[in-house]
Amino acid sequence: MKLSTRLTTLTPDSDGWGVYYRAKAMIAAGTPVIELTIGEHDTPTDPAILDALHAAARAGHTGYASVPGTNALRDAIAARVTERTGVATARDNILVTAGGQAALLATHSAVCDPGDTALFIDPFYVTYPGTIRAVGAVPRAIAAMPEDGFQPRPGPIAAAAAGARSLLINSPHNPTGVIYSRDTLEGIAAVCRDQDLWLISDEVYDTQVWHGDHLSPRALPGMEDRTLAIGSMSKSHAMTGSRIGWIAGPEEAIDHLSNLSTHTTYGVPGYIQDAALFALEQGTAFERRIAEPFRRRRDLALSIVAKSNRIVPVPSGGAMYLMLDIRRTGQTGEGFANALLESEHIGVMPGESFGKCAAGHIRVALTVPDDQLTDALHRLVRFAEGLAHAA
Ligand code: PLP
Repeated sequence: MKLSTRLTTLTPDSDGWGVYYRAKAMIAAGTPVIELTIGEHDTPTDPAILDALHAAARAGHTGYASVPGTNALRDAIAARVTERTGVATARDNILVTAGGQAALLATHSAVCDPGDTALFIDPFYVTYPGTIRAVGAVPRAIAAMPEDGFQPRPGPIAAAAAGARSLLINSPHNPTGVIYSRDTLEGIAAVCRDQDLWLISDEVYDTQVWHGDHLSPRALPGMEDRTLAIGSMSKSHAMTGSRIGWIAGPEEAIDHLSNLSTHTTYGVPGYIQDAALFALEQGTAFERRIAEPFRRRRDLALSIVAKSNRIVPVPSGGAMYLMLDIRRTGQTGEGFANALLESEHIGVMPGESFGKCAAGHIRVALTVPDDQLTDALHRLVRFAEGLAHAA
């Protein structure tokens, strides 16, 4: 029987995760591989959060939960968003979702009709084009170039904006770790206002900012009514498996999005929402504790990579990744990552997995203990020098 084109074109035949699958297969076959491919903490969810989850379930919060989110959780998220972004945000501006990914799908279905163009930036988080296709919209990539430090420029966005409904951005950025500067965000905001675009702002790494404060484009002039900002507790609270996040946006949009949740997830489990509330109540000190290892490991990684003539780190300021420019080795990101896995048993993501613009780069996830990361990076640098000599 025929399946819909929307479904069957969701992920391309080659999804760019070949190195990741090979690394997993090697591990399953008993080969010790240092796995630096995936953006997931090396520590599980904090036991205190799990206790809150268990207590909520045992107290009976196991039935259908409030679909837009419990009042208490929406209030806590609204307070956090207000405090971190400076935009006065109330319960009715918040929809609780099953993680940032569900929010990406929901926001695009909220603003795009089938056939509409939805813009996104290359390099990109791997699900972006598929998510846009999943709602029947047409993804159009805008290049952010290595020579611009992967900061998107307003000119190319404006040039691609005719007929588009939305622009999806992500800062702090996966895969590059780049933080979009105030200038970049103001330029993007101006294009959105001029071209009447919705801005979908993926801010799931908002606690992983290594210098200064996180700037949400929802806070820029004229943007509150046209921005849907996505948050998640996956990265900020090491709750990836709990599937909990949110959308912050105009009340009318949130109202309709709540109807969409009724027709898709029917809300997020009540005991997960209670655990999320408990987690948010732990405040920013807890969030800093979760983020701290990535800051420390980034500094560590930079100090090792600085010794290489062949590897140039992308100037980044956040997220749990370091992107390295390996073009001086004469390799593609794909070739480098495959060869590194083969000879050193170290798994990294090729830049090509994240679009065209990060070709010739690799992404290192800072998600293993410091001693393993140190060992892996020393070996990676040696490997790169060896390739260059062999060339
Ligand atoms: N957005 C970005 C940029 C990501 O890197 C991820 C996960 O890695 C997500 C969204 C989805 O996160 P979650 O659905 O766990 O909140």
